[in-house]
Amino acid sequence: MNLHEYQSKLRFAEYGIPTPKGQVAHSPQQAYEIAKELGVPVVVKAQVLTGGRGKAGGVKLARTPEEAQQRADDILGMDIRSHKVLKVLVDPASNIQSEIYLGVTNDRAARKPLIMASAQGGMDIEEVNRTTPEKIIREHVDPFLGLRDYQIRNLAYGIELPRELWKQFGKIASGLYRCYVESDATLAEINPLIIDGSGNLLAVDGKISIDDNALYRHPDLAELRDTSAEPPAETQARAAGLSYIKLDGEIGCMVNGAGLAMTTMDMTKLYGGSPANFLDIGGGAKAETVAAALRIILADPNVKAVLFNIFGGITRCDEVAMGILAALKDIKVDLPMIVRLVGTNETEGRRLLDEAQVPHMITAATLAEAAQKAVTAAQGA
Ligand code: GDP
Ligand code: MN
Repeated sequence: MNLHEYQSKLRFAEYGIPTPKGQVAHSPQQAYEIAKELGVPVVVKAQVLTGGRGKAGGVKLARTPEEAQQRADDILGMDIRSHKVLKVLVDPASNIQSEIYLGVTNDRAARKPLIMASAQGGMDIEEVNRTTPEKIIREHVDPFLGLRDYQIRNLAYGIELPRELWKQFGKIASGLYRCYVESDATLAEINPLIIDGSGNLLAVDGKISIDDNALYRHPDLAELRDTSAEPPAETQARAAGLSYIKLDGEIGCMVNGAGLAMTTMDMTKLYGGSPANFLDIGGGAKAETVAAALRIILADPNVKAVLFNIFGGITRCDEVAMGILAALKDIKVDLPMIVRLVGTNETEGRRLLDEAQVPHMITAATLAEAAQKAVTAAQGA
């Protein structure tokens, strides 16, 4: 889960990182009032969960409250890489002397957090990484020791930070690292961290990505999720307790277990089709869960066939079959459905499905057979 810039900066401030004290506006009028209250100039910034807002015209300076209102009017409703702007942050504008990059992320290969800094921060940091990677100073952090003072000095020295700013920089770097660890983040980034007109460091942009699997222990962060910024299917899936990821193919997959779900996706590809989604309905698979999953799969206009692949371990196949039948009472399905049920009580499960004589339902004994039938059905549809 990604936090918006304004959410990230509020969190940074809790860790002693200096940030501009702006406010969020949902309308041009609100932007006017915030600018009036803060004093001008201000910077009006699109709050969307994607980077490169500056280059897309989503970050604009304003010298008067009237101008802030106009800029907010321009930016609200804008489309930035398929993200619609529904709110803007109005921050006091800074006089930028230089732009530094500072970020902490997970280095999976090294199995350690990695903190990076560059004197060439700002909107072209990806380009810096591509063309002159040596201009990004990197320190791996031992998770048991935490970020050490000598590592902070290496970063400050490496980016040629003026000595008088080392103390401020040290507080910011250790605050950012603590914020990263304590938020169970996969990324905590300040870009740019600026030297402002009075020669102090200030975090004018912020990004935090949180590991979804750790959100259960951060109810305060989980609450910050902006459901207006994600596909409705993902919101519905989360509410139903399903793991769902939309893909581009034509075979809707309803599977219990993440590993089996991935295998099922592979099998559709093996036989020349492609999966419309990843979906793990989890254990149990009650009628309501199956119904919720089916609604989400069918809402995707690309889906031409639905493949149920259920392996009954603790989950009993007869229960799943009843779940499917109960869900089908609520939902009319005009697409071919291919069902493969194996494992505990499979005979009973299949008998229930056969007796119900559901239109468009085809049963299969093996996954290979089911995947083949699903691909054929999708191509015929
Ligand atoms: P991003 O493009 O999504 O990363 O958005 P940023 O918040 O990083 O803003 C992009 C660029 O706008 C920054 O790199 C700065 O150059 C500029 N910018 C942001 N805030 C200010 C400000 O307060 N004053 C000035 N002069 N420039 C700003
Ligand atoms: Mn930025």
